[in-house]
Amino acid sequence: MNNEFDLETLAVRAGTVRSQFNEHSEAMFLTSSFVFENAAQAAARFGGQEPGNIYSRFTNPTVSMLQERLAALEGAEFCVATSSGMSAILACVMGLLSAGDHIVASRSIFGTTVQLFGNIFKRFGVETTFVPLADPDAWEKAVQPNTRLFFVETPSNPLTEVCDIAVLADIAHKSGAWLAVDNCFCTPMLQRPLDLGADIVIHSATKYLDGQGRVLGGAVLGSKQLMEGVYGFLRTAGPTLSAFNAWVILKGLETLKIRMDAHSRNALELAQWLEVQPWVERVYYPGLPSHTQHALAMKQQKTGGGIVAFDVKGGKDAAWRLVDATRMVSITANLGDTKTTITHPSTTTHSRVTAEARAAAGIGDGLLRVAVGLESVEDIKADLVRGLQNKA
Ligand SMILES: *Cc1c(COP(=O)(O)O)cnc(C)c1O
Repeated sequence: MNNEFDLETLAVRAGTVRSQFNEHSEAMFLTSSFVFENAAQAAARFGGQEPGNIYSRFTNPTVSMLQERLAALEGAEFCVATSSGMSAILACVMGLLSAGDHIVASRSIFGTTVQLFGNIFKRFGVETTFVPLADPDAWEKAVQPNTRLFFVETPSNPLTEVCDIAVLADIAHKSGAWLAVDNCFCTPMLQRPLDLGADIVIHSATKYLDGQGRVLGGAVLGSKQLMEGVYGFLRTAGPTLSAFNAWVILKGLETLKIRMDAHSRNALELAQWLEVQPWVERVYYPGLPSHTQHALAMKQQKTGGGIVAFDVKGGKDAAWRLVDATRMVSITANLGDTKTTITHPSTTTHSRVTAEARAAAGIGDGLLRVAVGLESVEDIKADLVRGLQNKA
């Protein structure tokens, strides 16, 4: 049903397969294995002559429904669901690269992804060069004869920097590399990287796809040919998505469109309000005309998304005062939840980065990141202003 229907419809209906009971809502198949009619069928299933389920590390009907639905939403030929966002990145690289290959990655990617590339893959002979996200020349200069993969997140965390996916895809393809985009912040409702020329989309389904902070999950999407390699790794190495988590995420997708619209509306209103507060130094939100890459963001994304960052005047003390005075907003590093969350990056997510590197990346001591939830935006504003309203 992929080309015939709008994204809203695909999110609700794509991939649904009914069992013999003709249930309306998608069933959760909590079974580790599947039985065969006879020895010949078992042999045919194992030999690949007959399609069908064998064992839930390989395939599971609930996981398959999620894969079909997410593939439809991203416009991908194939989706491989994984146990977390990190195992999606792991499966992508282990499935497609070998020792001696080289990765070029944005230096503004998720901190754990930096560790996975910089420490773990390096031990197995895959080197990574980190480059500034929005500088195409730097990507081009970092290419080596053995470069196989470009890896990027746009917009970036926490400063919401944006890169031109189409331009990066061109550079990657000229260099004989694939472009992988971690589309966690936008989801297919706001940005479809494959339409813009990317080869692979990565998701942490833990964030907006579930959307309610319940389960971990991940996905890798792309052509059938590329995903065969990724699936081969997953089926053998085992970071498979559980049927239960797949079911939760599958139902999460049904409200993805209205949630992303509501997150975006709240975030834009909050960003506009922050911009005129006397205690705020600077606001980072792609949906604001003052964002340095506003035009590119609006060309490539439907909205600015749900993440807003801002510098408060008074550095760390003021930032911590604001955080500590909140009564509703959750102090946690998670994002993509119906509940608004707040993080002080320089002392949490980016605390392992040296002070110089943080300064170079623009992550100051007064910087706060808010993942705007679905509460009333007036209540969110009131909560954020509590600690600083009389101190500006
Ligand atoms: C959270 C996150 C990940 C990792 O996902 P997990 O599900 O926590 O393993 C990867 N990339 C981005 C952009 C994230 O926000």
